[in-house]
Amino acid sequence: LLSLEGATVRFGGRAVLDGVDLEVAEHEVVCVLGPSGSGKSTLLRAVAGLQPLDAGRVRLDGRDQSGVPAHRRGVGLMFQDHQLFPQRDVGGNVAFGLRMHGASRTEQDERVRELLGLVGLPDAARRAVAALSGGEQQRVALARALAPRPRLLMLDEPLGQLDRSLRERLVVELRELFGRLGTTVLAVTHDQGEAFALADRVVVMRDGRIAQTGTPLQVWQRPADEFVARFLGFDN
Ligand code: ATP
Ligand code: MG
Repeated sequence: LLSLEGATVRFGGRAVLDGVDLEVAEHEVVCVLGPSGSGKSTLLRAVAGLQPLDAGRVRLDGRDQSGVPAHRRGVGLMFQDHQLFPQRDVGGNVAFGLRMHGASRTEQDERVRELLGLVGLPDAARRAVAALSGGEQQRVALARALAPRPRLLMLDEPLGQLDRSLRERLVVELRELFGRLGTTVLAVTHDQGEAFALADRVVVMRDGRIAQTGTPLQVWQRPADEFVARFLGFDN
């Protein structure tokens, strides 16, 4: 479904993405791990069409995406800082992408109820976004990203601000949901436990490059190098 070939992004002469090659198959759930500043968000933004490449290419279904604007790529992106519309209520935020895809009013309401139930906010549709806690806003953003059922869903720290028990519950539910919908997912997380619970495959980034990719078990059992081992918390 997705393929990156030598994807490179430079800021002020520094390669923040440095020749990244990556393939994501249809229905695959891939989690990107790596230290702060290693280029994880830049990778997602490049795939989404929000960050032009300085070299290399992004393909979706084999088609080169250079020059294809973000809204024509059929991918969804939930940002790290979620960027909800403060002037719309919760339901209006979740329904946003549905309206753009021409869903009827009844379809929208039904879908909004289903999605808010999924993220644990079943009665929040008419609440003001500004009156929600950070974690609640993050859950609304997640529901909004899921709403149009994009063929590739990209999530940047989707559960970052949530407490542990909610995160653990949501990871199980998301895994089940992605499986059921057949959604292809590329998700960034700081939390290894989350990546290992959610992902078919993990990608560990370092300084704009992929240090290792493999199934969670492969990476866990055989870290490719000392950097990956340290990052996973093996200290010797
Ligand atoms: P975090 O885990 O903290 O979110 P990240 O892996 O997502 O980190 P990126 O946001 O992709 O990291 O940034 C990678 C590097 O590129 C960082 O050093 C960042 O400062 C730099 N960078 C990102 N966007 C820009 C920009 N628009 N202009 C200049 N530098 C940028
Ligand atoms: Mg980031």
